[in-house]
Amino acid sequence: MNEPVHVIGGGLAGCEAAWQLARWNVRTVLWEMRPGRSTPAHKTGDLAELVCSNSFRSDVITNAAGLLKEEMRRFGSIILKAADSAKVPAGSALAVDRAEFSRQVRDALESRPEIEIRHDEVTELPGTKNITIIASGPLTSDSLATAIAEFTGEDALYFYDAIAPVVEAETIDTTIAFKGSRYDRGDDAAGDYFNCPLNKEEYDRFYDALMEAAPVTWHEFEKDHFFEGCLPIEELARRGRDTLCFGPMKPVGLVDPRTGRRPHAVVQLRQDNRAATHYNLVGFQNHLKFAEQERILRLIPGLAKAEFIRFGQIHRNSFINSPRVLRPTYQTRARAGLFFAGQISGVEGYLESAAAGLMAGTGAAALARGQEPRPFPPTTAHGALAHYITEADPRHFVPTNISFGLFPALPDAGRGRRGRRERNRRHGERALADLAAFCASLNLPDHGSTAVQGG
Ligand SMILES: Cc1cc2nc3c(=O)[nH]c(=O)nc-3n(C[C@H](O)[C@H](O)[C@H](O)COP(=O)(O)OP(=O)(O)OC[C@H]3O[C@@H](n4cnc5c(N)ncnc54)[C@H](O)[C@@H]3O)c2cc1C
Repeated sequence: MNEPVHVIGGGLAGCEAAWQLARWNVRTVLWEMRPGRSTPAHKTGDLAELVCSNSFRSDVITNAAGLLKEEMRRFGSIILKAADSAKVPAGSALAVDRAEFSRQVRDALESRPEIEIRHDEVTELPGTKNITIIASGPLTSDSLATAIAEFTGEDALYFYDAIAPVVEAETIDTTIAFKGSRYDRGDDAAGDYFNCPLNKEEYDRFYDALMEAAPVTWHEFEKDHFFEGCLPIEELARRGRDTLCFGPMKPVGLVDPRTGRRPHAVVQLRQDNRAATHYNLVGFQNHLKFAEQERILRLIPGLAKAEFIRFGQIHRNSFINSPRVLRPTYQTRARAGLFFAGQISGVEGYLESAAAGLMAGTGAAALARGQEPRPFPPTTAHGALAHYITEADPRHFVPTNISFGLFPALPDAGRGRRGRRERNRRHGERALADLAAFCASLNLPDHGSTAVQGG
């Protein structure tokens, strides 16, 4: 086709998408509005700027984030290539020198004649004759956000994200936490919830720890909005010692089977994925440092050994209700030539955003060459992410990080830490084998030259 593909947003997803398109020699215009117009969190005009931490998390493949990275390396991701060469010492994590990382990404993209980089804001969706990838991120500019909302429907684009912590189901102590429901109706049905009961003494200990916990610093643009319906639990608690007992921790309608009595307070955990491997702490969105969350939430009876899949967060985050809007190839259901990628597509995190860009770029390249885009196998970390954002329940959809709970189940590998490690290892083996077969079937143009082999 003669028309170039437009990629909107020169962040992690957009840069990766443009790179994948260029690998297939597809002419691409990459639009980045900075430095002319910035976002409330970005500080530079650089491509692929890391807005906060400089870490891409664990680099061990028995960890889901490590596996996702390894898949990206093997596929030939520019974000991973740049991250590996801008690496700084960080134990088993992959952390980078952020300026060096951005420079590497820019140099790589500028070296490709297929890519034209334009520093300008896109305010409307390009017309239907262009294949387009929207990768404008959680801080998409207002005019483009309006255009997206018109396309998806207002109720399919969210602007603020209050995320409750999520724990691995098998790490909940079920000798303490009991199943049950306050009201036996609808989506609040018995069996959907675990209840962690607290007596007065346990509640007081938890409350005091919460009041002393260190919060993350708010950005100016976040302060204005966080009271609007996503109140962090620590802010609610500040209103009085018993406020939580009348709010998210109210014990009404629940009886602890161990005592036969109503507890002083209750933390409810709601099933978070179809496989019932993840549970979220209802109403526990918060803005505390992750280490503080781990320490304080483990004071809750039944969660002393909880493994956290995700910690609570509150920040501005534009994202679409992807189960309603997207196909597993990141194309929209309504318009095959329009893709979303990155955080706006319903994934969470640097790595996941870049992975979404890799999938959308690969799909858009296929479409530009007159082929049908193909989803990644669901047994790979890439495919598991795509499956989640398209198959999750749209009524409760929240963006997610990669975790093994999103993968199709494997035969039981036993319980406890050893069983989990063994199961994760098997997930990794299956994912890398299936990715290799998928890459071979795609016949990637330069596979082996840009892709980092081994692992
Ligand atoms: C404040 C904040 C802190 C975060 N911290 C972390 C963290 O520490 N670790 C982590 O893993 N994740 C973090 N995230 C989540 C997420 O991983 C990052 O936001 C990540 O950068 C998302 O990648 P992306 O490519 O989707 O978006 P971005 O990296 O934000 O890229 C989108 C790009 O699009 C540009 N753009 C926006 N609108 C337009 C337009 N109309 N026209 C042209 N260009 C446009 C923006 O300038 C930006 O460069 C954070 C998010 C926020 C909001």
